[in-house]
Amino acid sequence: MKLSVIVPCKNEEGNVSKIFDKISEVLNKIKYEVIFIDDGSNDKTFEELKELYEKDMKHIKVVSFSRNFMKEAAILAGLEASRGDYTCIIDADLQQNPKYLIEMMDFLDNNKNYDEVAMVMKERKEESKFMGFCKKEFYKVMNDMCDIRLENAASDFRMFRKDVKDALLSLSERNRFSKGMFSWIGFNVKYLPYDVEPRVNGKTSFGFKASIKYAINGILAFSDKPLKWSINLGLMLLVVSLIYLIVLLVQVLGYGMNMEAIYALILIVLFLFGIQFIIMGIIGKYIAAITTEVKKRPNYIVKEKLGFDNETIL
Ligand code: UDP
Ligand code: MG
Repeated sequence: MKLSVIVPCKNEEGNVSKIFDKISEVLNKIKYEVIFIDDGSNDKTFEELKELYEKDMKHIKVVSFSRNFMKEAAILAGLEASRGDYTCIIDADLQQNPKYLIEMMDFLDNNKNYDEVAMVMKERKEESKFMGFCKKEFYKVMNDMCDIRLENAASDFRMFRKDVKDALLSLSERNRFSKGMFSWIGFNVKYLPYDVEPRVNGKTSFGFKASIKYAINGILAFSDKPLKWSINLGLMLLVVSLIYLIVLLVQVLGYGMNMEAIYALILIVLFLFGIQFIIMGIIGKYIAAITTEVKKRPNYIVKEKLGFDNETIL
């Protein structure tokens, strides 16, 4: 098997057959498999996938989750199921044109010193200016905060050799931030530009709220800087409040207790409690992340599989 193509799908009923047609058109000369992961869709995605599978059992595999476990879990299930020399991850909504699969494969065939090709959006499309700005800033902040490097506008649209896949699978964490994991495992990565296209059907799962959650998970998985900043902030506030305490003492001793001093004290106490609760919240987030890891629950639960009859997987 030359290539395994992993397609995570959540509510993509209008896209799955279109993307399969395009993939099979592009890959008609090589041995390939397309692994669709139905990530708890509540539309007709699974029915569509079943129909596709019945038409072309040779090339299609389907893993259907018991509920939505998010894209990262779908990618993991795809990696675990894939058998190809090369593995590729591509979105179901046709924003990433399958025509690039050939370019990626040719690059890996002709450059043995590279292990992975990552496609980088030439420009972000179909997003509000605000979201584009937030995402760009997020990558800047992440690169400042973490020891790993994240390429701005590099998506999960990547093709890689078996070594890379095995390295990804060797990371057993529950909070899987794949952009960070790709960077953490190393290897030689070639970044190639691609034109991102508009979504064909349906709507994005990553609105503002989901993107913020995704960003926080990334920070929790790859940086302990917020904890270090908390210590620095605490020290700074301690120094400032000590200075102010001395000023207040001098005032009270010199002029007696007045109402302004009491108001100022209340304000300081409220301010410091506010800061303290924020810091406790940050620590709480890390503890919650640890709890999730310690529980070692599976990343996903499979409800149904198609095309794995002769293999033991998952
Ligand atoms: N996806 C998924 N599980 C989710 C959310 C999204 O498998 O919980 C899939 C989705 O079907 C698509 C890909 O991940 O194939 C990218 O999602 P989307 O297009 O919503 O994200 P965007 O392109 O807007 O970043
Ligand atoms: Mg999309």
